[in-house]
Amino acid sequence: MAYKVIILGSGCAGATAAIYAARANLAPLVLEGHEPGGQLSLTTLVENYPGFSEGIQGPELVAIMKKQAERFGAEFRMEIAREADLSRRPFKLKTEKNNYEAETLIIASGASARLLGLESEKKLIGKGVSTCATCDGYFFREKEIVVVGGGDSAMEEALFLTKFATKVTVIHRRDQLRASKIMQERARSNPKISFLWDTLVTDILDPGKGTVEAVKLKNVKTGKESTFKTDGVFIAIGHIPNTKVFEGQLEMDKNGYLKAKNGTRTSVAGVFAAGDVQDVIYKQAVTAAGSGCMAAMDAEKFLEAQGHK
Ligand code: NAP
Repeated sequence: MAYKVIILGSGCAGATAAIYAARANLAPLVLEGHEPGGQLSLTTLVENYPGFSEGIQGPELVAIMKKQAERFGAEFRMEIAREADLSRRPFKLKTEKNNYEAETLIIASGASARLLGLESEKKLIGKGVSTCATCDGYFFREKEIVVVGGGDSAMEEALFLTKFATKVTVIHRRDQLRASKIMQERARSNPKISFLWDTLVTDILDPGKGTVEAVKLKNVKTGKESTFKTDGVFIAIGHIPNTKVFEGQLEMDKNGYLKAKNGTRTSVAGVFAAGDVQDVIYKQAVTAAGSGCMAAMDAEKFLEAQGHK
């Protein structure tokens, strides 16, 4: 028997879609994906999600959302969609454990922040290493921080961080920025921002102490290695939308983000997109939750139009 709604992803978008779909009696199944709880599960204190005047820990916030959805009958399974066939309804999904069919699909599989791939970075994420200045910048008041990357995101993060930090150093692996002219100019003319060119971050210190004290650097032209003191590291080297299984089946932009029109509708009728997987601009917990709500309402309308009760 086909599910009326299957939701891929259990971050803010997926969990909110589950709350709305469950409350519409659609008994949604949520396949939690490879990062259960999404990006929030990788952060610590969240201070910009409305409703929590003192802030709330990211993992706790998504756990509450999940519990809320389960209360109304949503079912969560720790599975990842490995294959999908959207050529006809019911849509077919394959995980490592099961085969599923769904009348509608809400894709809320997110976009994972690209990381440098260092062991120390993994250990210090949420403890001085961050992938989101909007989320964590406030914790770095009067501190010195580094931003890794040379694209628009890196410039945006660096500029935002100057509101809090005394000094922001952008570390880029080449001697030219990838960012747009206007963002470059803004960053270059900000007196708090300086640049380290042709430089790779090879390690972050000190995972043993559970806090960021410095980064180890290597100049790619001279090979010279050095240690640079810092209180925080913001990694802004891009995001990877989790859309691989839908390649060739759904319209995407050149970076693999799903294209959503008229609310959350994708290029296949009955398939809806919510949260970071279709959001190249905002990528906030609250905007993801909002679009999860929209996707569930769009799916409900679609099912109604198909004659489902
Ligand atoms: P991006 O444009 O792909 O830039 C990623 C940057 O990270 C590049 O400078 C790249 O270096 C560097 N990088 C990638 N992998 C790295 C690694 N392993 N180690 C060190 N450095 C690494 O990504 P983005 O900045 O997130 O932007 C994504 C898209 O969103 C772009 O189209 C951008 O224009 C748009 N965006 C726009 C705005 C805005 O207009 N306000 C804000 C944010 C994003 P190389 O340059 O050497 O490749």
